[in-house]
Amino acid sequence: MRWSQTFIPTLKETPADAEIVSHQLLLRAALVRKLTGGLYTFLPLGLRALRKVERIVREEMDRAGALEVFMPALQPPEIWQQSGRYVTAREVLYKVRDRADKEWLLGPTHEEVITSLVAGEINSYRQLPKNFYQVQTKFRDEIRPRFGLMRAKEFIMKDAYSFDVTDQAAQVSYQKMYDAYTRIFQRCGLRTLPVEADTGVIGGKFSHEFMVPAETGENEVVYCETGPYAANLEKAVSQGPLTPCPLADTGHEPERFATPGVLTIEALSQAPYHVPASAQIKTLVYMVKPFGSEDSHPVAILLRGDDQLNEAKLAGPLGSNVFRPATPEEIFLVLGAHPGSLGAVASRLPTQAAALPVFADEALRGAAGMTTGANEDGYHVRHVNLTRDVRVTHWADLRTVRVGERCVVSGQPLKIRRAIEVGHVFKLGTKYSEALNARYLDETGVSRPCVMGCYGIGVTRTLQAIVEQSNDKDGVRWPVAVAPYTVLITPLNVAPESPGMQLAERIYADLATRGVEVLLDDRDERPGVKFKDADLIGIPLRVSIGEKSLARGEVELKPRGGAMTAAKAEDAVARVLEWLHEAEASRAT
Ligand code: ATP
Ligand code: MG
Repeated sequence: MRWSQTFIPTLKETPADAEIVSHQLLLRAALVRKLTGGLYTFLPLGLRALRKVERIVREEMDRAGALEVFMPALQPPEIWQQSGRYVTAREVLYKVRDRADKEWLLGPTHEEVITSLVAGEINSYRQLPKNFYQVQTKFRDEIRPRFGLMRAKEFIMKDAYSFDVTDQAAQVSYQKMYDAYTRIFQRCGLRTLPVEADTGVIGGKFSHEFMVPAETGENEVVYCETGPYAANLEKAVSQGPLTPCPLADTGHEPERFATPGVLTIEALSQAPYHVPASAQIKTLVYMVKPFGSEDSHPVAILLRGDDQLNEAKLAGPLGSNVFRPATPEEIFLVLGAHPGSLGAVASRLPTQAAALPVFADEALRGAAGMTTGANEDGYHVRHVNLTRDVRVTHWADLRTVRVGERCVVSGQPLKIRRAIEVGHVFKLGTKYSEALNARYLDETGVSRPCVMGCYGIGVTRTLQAIVEQSNDKDGVRWPVAVAPYTVLITPLNVAPESPGMQLAERIYADLATRGVEVLLDDRDERPGVKFKDADLIGIPLRVSIGEKSLARGEVELKPRGGAMTAAKAEDAVARVLEWLHEAEASRAT
């Protein structure tokens, strides 16, 4: 391709509304353009890179035995009602109406559609296992679309869904996808870290996210440097707080004491009270809407004063992922006090709270001599013994892990870093197959629900994550496998009769016939402009043809970000092929 014939509108200035480097480079290197927040057009260079990522994804999915299909993006709401996600996923659903005022959904994901397909087509164990995938546009009404392609309203996902006869068989399908993902990201030139991920209401151990470590990532990953443990902060566990709760019973009964104006854990830890946060109980009230119900009810959540609630951990114990913090009015209705003075000591609960479910964090188990709100504005209670004085209905791990806590595997201190989630593999079980009737008859003629898994890669997010990980101050540094072009030829004199341009044309034609994806910068621009653009768009290998070196019969080869070497003009093609070959080989190892 000739630069003058394609469309590469590079930008000199950094666009003001692009906050992170990859977003800036996507715009500056003419890969995409913004239509409006969360919606982007791929320009020719960006689309070429995107197609490369997609090709790698398809090759690895095919290799793993998955079957490509293509499902409608427009979906009927009925199947979402059947699965329950019409309610639970309502926040991200784009809804549209047709001429008869019937509602339709723009698919944010496709579990419902694929499960409906399987329900109609598969009825015997002989037809299983099956894994179907597609590469398709998804629509999500994100609260905060941002960072370019990272969190868009419309994006391309590769989604796959496996169907198996048993849990054990589903585990095999899961592992195949895990391995395929590892290969996909490796081939894309991305360093990823697979981490244990939250499974929400579905529960179970089997969910991993593939994370690209990056300061700009929206996720936090807890990991251990000496062992294999790595988990999304939403899911992460540790051996517990570094300073344990007091356990020794003081022998005293709970005692109410006046704390006028004290509304925070921090205030109670100061003079004149001096109650350390680790000896306080924090009481939160949440409103929960159980699955299939229209009404919400309050629950109390107890944590150590110095711990933070991990909301992602709530869904499992609550059995619902529709919940929110209660308003001060709702809290007052049930506990008769305002935030800052709340507590769950049984003897201090008003009658209307007698049946209030109380979820306590494991770190509080056995704690004694604790202080908490008295459920009376301006008062707290001390000498609280969890076992004796609080009617805990559910114990669960609800706290957020902190840096330095001990790893449950190695016992070493944990670290936390930010990361971008590019892929997610998930063992679903039978939630969708039961709801949507995807059943098969086993060898003995018994009808059973298929055991499912689902596997997503954000293809457009992956593309941007590659740029986020592979760049320098001058621009993008594309890994060869996903570069829009692999070779850029830069003649400095582009007059058609000039020896430099004639040589450039010969090398260009020669490489192109050998199947090398080559871009010829035939613009009549100053060398400075050409080299700056070359660095910005980040083509892996540049062949520069200047008058001076050509007078010596030489051209210059420069890998992006590497050192320049001279090559004899007549060897240029061979040297380029050799370089590509080596790049290929080093990638394979
Ligand atoms: P996130 O936590 O980032 O919102 P998710 O858990 O909603 O992601 P999944 O439903 O598992 O994501 O989707 C699979 C993949 O699709 C994700 O791993 C991510 O790479 C990509 N993805 C999800 N939402 C978006 C979005 N709004 N824009 C671009 N890519 C996205
Ligand atoms: Mg999301």
